[in-house]
Amino acid sequence: MVSRVIPVEPFDLVIFGGTGDLARRKILPGLFRRFVAGQIEPEARIIGAARSELDDAGYRAFVGEAIADFGGNETRQKKKLKSFLDMLGYVTVDAKGDTGWEELAERVTDDRIRAFYFSVGPGLFGDLAKRLHKHGMADAQSRIVVEKPFGRDLESARDLNRGLAQHFDESQIYRIDHYLGKETVQNLMAVRFGNMLFEPLWNSQYVDHIQITVAETVGVGDRGGYYDKSGAMRDMVQNHMMQLLCLIAMEPPAKFDPDAVRDEKLKVIRALDPVEKDDLVRGQYEGDGTQPGYRNQVENRDSTTESFVALKLHISNWRWAGTPFYLRTGKRLRERASEIAVVFKDTPHSIFGPEAGNHRNILTIKLQPNEGIELGVTIKEPGPGGMRLVDVPLDMTFAEALGPEEADFPDAYERLIMDVIRGNQTLFMRGDEVEAAWAWTDPIIAGWQDRGDVPLAYTSGSSGPDDALMLMHRDGRRWREIKA
Ligand code: NAD
Repeated sequence: MVSRVIPVEPFDLVIFGGTGDLARRKILPGLFRRFVAGQIEPEARIIGAARSELDDAGYRAFVGEAIADFGGNETRQKKKLKSFLDMLGYVTVDAKGDTGWEELAERVTDDRIRAFYFSVGPGLFGDLAKRLHKHGMADAQSRIVVEKPFGRDLESARDLNRGLAQHFDESQIYRIDHYLGKETVQNLMAVRFGNMLFEPLWNSQYVDHIQITVAETVGVGDRGGYYDKSGAMRDMVQNHMMQLLCLIAMEPPAKFDPDAVRDEKLKVIRALDPVEKDDLVRGQYEGDGTQPGYRNQVENRDSTTESFVALKLHISNWRWAGTPFYLRTGKRLRERASEIAVVFKDTPHSIFGPEAGNHRNILTIKLQPNEGIELGVTIKEPGPGGMRLVDVPLDMTFAEALGPEEADFPDAYERLIMDVIRGNQTLFMRGDEVEAAWAWTDPIIAGWQDRGDVPLAYTSGSSGPDDALMLMHRDGRRWREIKA
């Protein structure tokens, strides 16, 4: 069974920062894959807009190379590639000056959906919005897509929101969090709200705790300059992990509609308690002989920026009072693995006696490397050994359950860009959500800055500092093993 792809209506998409790393690795190859899948029709137009001096032909050559490098299997479709490249154009534009704006305004069509992707640093968001307005491109047909980081604290996020709101309505602003574009993240909503089985158990009466892990094996690499000013809390927790937390903890929205979903997510963030200092562990990786340590990869050799953070959270509402949420994320960890685990409570009484051991149902939502959902259930160990119990996974790894074609779903960026064209904001962050997440994050960061906390060193390839293990052990719980 192969799902039918419904083409989106022809559109104009302008990619500011169209020669940048994100455009090259994700946006352009993703658009090409949607074109090959038949979702984008040849009448659509994609215009790169950046500072580099290029013409249309030069940009097509640039994009051809990007697709060869990052396009995946679809790159073999030479005819399609040529038709795709024919849809591309380029205008040299300066976000902070007048260069290129009139030409750009002439190139985009009045009677179509117009999307402007701000794939540039946040310092340029306000300038771009202002100039789009000045040159008549900020009308009702237009929408803008903005990348992370959306600010570095509440004040800067408010400034960004204000700058955009001067020229665009909230319904025209699409703030990207690519985690929300992942198939499994959406499946989380389908599993929760499309089945009778889970929702009655989805509360503190039946759920012991929830763990969210986003583990990377890479270090900061050549992004040290950016990362050292940000750290794991700003780079991962405030946005991606907060979004995952919201989807797992929110109340059922009345309908699957952008504002209904986002209203419920916002309530979760607003119900978060402040984090106590003892419920927070920060770490920084050390070199391991073959790979340099964090401080050797950033300019400031005494940097106290965290490359790892673990924390315990409480959501103060009826559903979750008493169920802790444990979050951890870090670089240079043992494996690249991201998952959410909903750990249910023990059965109230074991009829099998103490020798049967402790068994718990765990629902695991795996985000990477392989997306899928797994439910651990307890059954009798097969064989003549008596009533011995064993936990086995009911595995819903998509590739196995649905067949390779069905599981070959679009990358998060592809899906999100198509949602922009379709005008569906469900998987994008609303301005008030982002501000609420910063309002919760800021005091945590201010707390460790005021105390002068220094992150704990951890060995590359480990599962982070030992104190992160203690965060769970002292509650009689333990982290799930980080494994791909
Ligand atoms: P980059 O430095 O590789 O590219 C920046 C682009 O902006 C270039 O095309 C450059 O020409 C253009 N630009 C810079 N100043 C300009 C100006 N005054 N006028 C017009 N164009 C200008 O950056 P990137 O890695 O592609 O990142 C773009 C944005 O996406 C950033 O906000 C970044 O934080 C975000 N982001 C990037 C990644 C990634 O994997 N690269 C991932 C998530 C978010």
